[in-house]
Amino acid sequence: GGSRGCVTLRGAQIRDLLDAKHNVLFDCDGVIWNGEAAVPGAPEVVSLLKQRGKRVFFVTNNCTRPRDNYVQKFARLGFTDVAEEEIFSSAYCSAAYLRDVARLRGKVYVIGGGGVRKELEDAGVPTVEEETERDRGVSITDCPLDPEVKAVLVGYDEGFTFMKLAKACCYLQDTECLFLATDPDPWHPLRGGRVTPDHGGLLMLTLVEGSPGCQQVTQLVYLQQSGRHPLLTRTKTFQNTMQDQFEGMIYFITLLKGVLLELTVQVHSGSQGSGSLTAALETASSRKATVIGKPGRFMFDCISSQFGLDPARSLMVGDRLETDVCFGSTCDLATVLTLTGVSTQEEALRYRDSPEPEHHSCVPDFIVESVGDFLQALEE
Ligand code: PLP
Ligand code: CA
Repeated sequence: GGSRGCVTLRGAQIRDLLDAKHNVLFDCDGVIWNGEAAVPGAPEVVSLLKQRGKRVFFVTNNCTRPRDNYVQKFARLGFTDVAEEEIFSSAYCSAAYLRDVARLRGKVYVIGGGGVRKELEDAGVPTVEEETERDRGVSITDCPLDPEVKAVLVGYDEGFTFMKLAKACCYLQDTECLFLATDPDPWHPLRGGRVTPDHGGLLMLTLVEGSPGCQQVTQLVYLQQSGRHPLLTRTKTFQNTMQDQFEGMIYFITLLKGVLLELTVQVHSGSQGSGSLTAALETASSRKATVIGKPGRFMFDCISSQFGLDPARSLMVGDRLETDVCFGSTCDLATVLTLTGVSTQEEALRYRDSPEPEHHSCVPDFIVESVGDFLQALEE
């Protein structure tokens, strides 16, 4: 606080910062690892911080794994002394919210994968069983609804279908039914040099499976690849920014409503995140989700309720300005941006120099190239 931020830290300055803090919160992807590769030096930094008596926590918006699976991933990547209790994922925190804050009396309808389901199960929060192959043929007007559903939870779901969207929307007609989202992340970088010529096309096919518009949208995807089709009168290209990805999802919904003549959608590089699915459901239901993950403050409250953290003695280290850094600012933590992930120094400076006051919560106090830069400061 106070300063204008974006201060690049070196050597002794890193040591001074770490000396002043007792708790270090790390984002995971883009900070301590990238996919299946540890960021060089990160495992040693975590171990040394612990040896110095610091408390270390991991705060991830990735809802695809349950906590026990994260422990395995940490070990596999060389983080040998990370305990389950130190890992706060958006799936774990969503389950904690439903159990401890909402005190849900009823079932949850889940859009999400195994990570979300396992955390809900471990928290003792009942869920509606996932759709089977058999349900796929059922039309939306005949689909069975469970009267015990009192919440809809949306997370990353590679099996997202039009049917799931429609069902969730039916549940949300009841204003008493809670609407939660694990995290707001619109997209994630693709790993391993995989080339996706057009991810927007893939997403459209997934979305419309089994829907009446399926045939037409399939054609649209096809024409997008072949580059010409008599139906196509206008083309709109979306770039890989947050705003455009949300808009992209909303256009998909428009397509599904039968307005098909106007555009084609191309979303470049990156896989879609939970936020894009949440945007679809928000549009369809005319409601707003309560977002559990960063930048909301619930994850910090969740850690704090178990470990009693003093914000003034806590540091948040992240790679995405709009989630990690904003989360840190919101919770009054000092923030460090690392440049091994999504956001760049230029983006941080743009937020800093922006006249919009709401951009200032995205300005990191400090910038380092990598968490590996902490190593020297801790070894001395
Ligand atoms: N959600 C999903 C599905 C992801 O694949 C990722 C990153 O790979 C994330 C969220 C972001 O995770 P983090 O908050 O650790 O950067
Ligand atoms: Ca990240």
